Amino acid sequence: MKIYSIGGYSEVGKNMTAVEIANEVVIFDMGYFMEKLIPLQENSNIIPDDILIKEGVVPDDSILHKKKVVAIVASHAHLDHIGAIPVLAERYKCPIIATPYTIEIIKHLIADRKKKILLGYLTKLNTGNILKLTQNLKLELVHITHSIPQATLIALHTKKGIVTYLNDYKLDNTPTMGKKPDYKKMMKLAKKSIVAHIEECVRIEECERTASEYIAQIMLQDALNRAYQEDTAVFITTFASHIARIRNIIEANQGKRKIVCIGRSLATYLKAAKNLNLINLNNIYLSKSGKESNSILQKVSDKPSNYLIIATGNQGEPNSILSAIAKQELEYKFNKGDQVIFSSFTIPSPINQANKHNLEKSLKSQGVRVINNVHVSGHAKREDHRDMIRLLKPKHIIPSHGNMEKLASFASLASEEGYILGKTVHIMSNGGIIEI
Ligand SMILES: [Zn+2]
Repeated sequence: MKIYSIGGYSEVGKNMTAVEIANEVVIFDMGYFMEKLIPLQENSNIIPDDILIKEGVVPDDSILHKKKVVAIVASHAHLDHIGAIPVLAERYKCPIIATPYTIEIIKHLIADRKKKILLGYLTKLNTGNILKLTQNLKLELVHITHSIPQATLIALHTKKGIVTYLNDYKLDNTPTMGKKPDYKKMMKLAKKSIVAHIEECVRIEECERTASEYIAQIMLQDALNRAYQEDTAVFITTFASHIARIRNIIEANQGKRKIVCIGRSLATYLKAAKNLNLINLNNIYLSKSGKESNSILQKVSDKPSNYLIIATGNQGEPNSILSAIAKQELEYKFNKGDQVIFSSFTIPSPINQANKHNLEKSLKSQGVRVINNVHVSGHAKREDHRDMIRLLKPKHIIPSHGNMEKLASFASLASEEGYILGKTVHIMSNGGIIEI
């Protein structure tokens, strides 16, 4: 069995891993490197394929071009896991498999990039079901919690044992949407014997466990209660794909204010969630563009304290709605005392930090009160990873979704758990191959 570490082994993002057994290859994820994509998107949302490839926004999959790829499996619908599918998948002419919500988002990406031909390859697979890929390979998706609906652990059943791919996840035993992780199924896989296990390590350096979304729900309730004590407009921003969080924001509002949702990515993810009955958007105004929303923003101007505005811009993205309002490009102008709640952390990359800094500076210069970090992470932390190693008991561990420091930090955790570097825990980099 060969494992190819194609992307996400030298950076956070750009995830892509492949497994080859008896000349058949299965790909796990094809993601964007968001840090490189965001600066390119300042002028236009859709960047041509050749530029995405040249700039390293998508993984370099050339090592697989002559291989027999039998399936592309997407773990969940974050862009750093599925963004590159419309750019790279066409040549493989194989099923693209994921849970229904993830498929719904891939459909949007395909439509944006005008790659209709890929629609015929999309294959929905619900968690708990097993799909026969070939004579020798079976695929199973196992329910896991993360910061997006229908995230999965991918299990590939082969004649040489099971390969598991867990990128990304958290262990949330009191989720506010959907069920807790399917521990029973994971224990079953462990019993059958997992030969190789690939796992994310985005927050491996934090020596704790990640708090449940239930905690975020309580934080939000308090944040909105306090914000509403003042007679100002309240804006809130979060990750557009975090449907559980947006549901919690709507619930925390308790019908007190009219909710207005504006932003391209918010519209995409919320409509997909609504189509699958994952969220109720009754009485909520939803629009993908600021310009289209100018008439409602005018109403907000007339009576700001009647509204809660959910807007894009949690990472300070220059093309987001919050940035557009801060730059006075839309019909709403911030008043002194308006409040902006960030239900998010700033992703620690230089571009995000600079963008967020600029937005926050601009907001404050207009007298806006900024409340940061009303948030819990969607990623496992060190002690969650330890729990997972003990639960799955894989023979070989390959940390992924991180730079060298993060991968090494995961490897040192694995060695605390009895694994041996270079023998049973393997630090890979992009473009690497390991034979197990
Ligand atoms: Zn993710």
